[in-house]
Parts: sequence; structure tokens; C-alpha cells
Amino acid sequence: MSSIPERLQAVRDAIVAATNEARRPLDAVQLLAVSKTFGPDAVLAAAAAGQRAFGENYVQEGVDKIAAVSVALPGERLVWHFIGPVQSNKTRPIAEHFDWVHTVEREKIAVRLSDQRPAGLGPLNVCVQVNISGEASKSGVAPAEVAELAEAVARLPNLRLRGLMAIPEPSDDFTEQRAAFAAMRVLYEQLRERFGAGFDTLSMGMSADMRAAILEGATIVRVGSAIFGARTYNKEQA
Ligand SMILES: *Cc1c(COP(=O)(O)O)cnc(C)c1O
Repeated sequence: MSSIPERLQAVRDAIVAATNEARRPLDAVQLLAVSKTFGPDAVLAAAAAGQRAFGENYVQEGVDKIAAVSVALPGERLVWHFIGPVQSNKTRPIAEHFDWVHTVEREKIAVRLSDQRPAGLGPLNVCVQVNISGEASKSGVAPAEVAELAEAVARLPNLRLRGLMAIPEPSDDFTEQRAAFAAMRVLYEQLRERFGAGFDTLSMGMSADMRAAILEGATIVRVGSAIFGARTYNKEQA
């Protein structure tokens, strides 16, 4: 059995290899370590190996873990990304405890996150989630509606529009994986012309498809099981 630091290093090596293959700068792709369902000790092990950005899917689990980790590492600033579905009655703890939200798919949710963001924390970084695989996926806005939602997010005072996020329909076929990510890249580049250099994030690619995502321009890959191991359960959001 390999350890978290060993698996983390293997993921870093794979990111470097894909980034080189894509002829992109080595700092073009950030690793978000998805720690959902794993306890604070797993986060601490990855943090000790130099990982700083962590992704969580479930609000209460994430808030509890952030608290436990900050007690264990006082003075150390990790960066927490919320990457799960956002329910409107859960926006406040997200706005209060996270640095990023990747999964904004409705204006109403964006307004609540902005209203509830504590003044002292600075703007919450937001990606608009895109439904890039059509009917196969329930989450995200249709590509034709992304620009309108992005405009709404960009107008809100306590949010900072950073980019787009997608979870394409899983596929074992590399060509299919790449096609979905290529469609995201086209959307991203169109919106980047509109919103400028601050619109700098294309969040796509997970353990099974990060090479295809990096070849198509991902700037954040969200990797869980390749770092922390297989998840033994999938917790439903309470
Ligand atoms: C769980 C999850 C991941 C990580 O998936 P792995 O296959 O474990 O790498 C990435 N993104 C989102 C939105 C997730 O829910």
C-alpha cells in the first residue's frame, strides 16, 4: 500500500508529464486535492507533503474538517474549495468558510453567496458550472446560458468570477474525454475575451481523466481517489 505523500507525488508527476505533453508552462495547472469522505488526518498528511488547496463536496463535513485542520495547523493558511452541489439553505456556511465555490449554476445561489460573504474575508472566488455533456448530467447550466449567469456573477460585489467548471459524463475512451474538455475550452476562451485576465480558471479533470483535461487547457484538476485512495462510501448530502 502506498502512502498519501507517495500518491500525491505520483499525481504531481502525472500533471507535469501532461503539462509538458501539452507544451504548457509548468505552473499552468494547479492541483486541488479532493478530500471528501476522508478525515482531517488525510488532509494533514497531504498538507505536510506541501499540498495547499483542498476540495470538499459536503457542507457540514467540509466545515468540520476546516475547523479541525485549522486547530491542528494554527497560522497555516490552506485554501478550501467547495465543489459539491449548492443548496440554497446551505449557502451561509459555504460563504463563511470557503475560499472558492466551483459549482454555481443559478443566479439565486450566487446572490445569496454574495449577500452572506463576511466583509472581512474578501470576495469569494466563483466558477460557473457548465453542463457540457447534455442530458447525461443533471448539474450545471447549458452552454448557451453560461454567459448570462457569468455576467450576473460578475456584477455581485462579494464574488469574484474566476472561470468555468465541468464534470463531463465519465468515459473510459480518451477521445471522448478529450472532446468534452475541448468543448469547455472553446466556451472558456470566448468568455475570457469578455471578462479579461481575471477570468483565469478552467476547473476540469479528475483522477480518471486529468491527462485529457490538461491537454485541453485545464488550469485546476480536482483529484481525490488517486491521492487519498478509494472512497469506501458515498455520503449523501444531508
Ligand atoms: C469527488 C469529486 C472529484 C474527485 O474525483 P476522483 O475521481 O476521486 O478524483 C472531483 N470533482 C468533483 C466535483 C467531485 O465530486
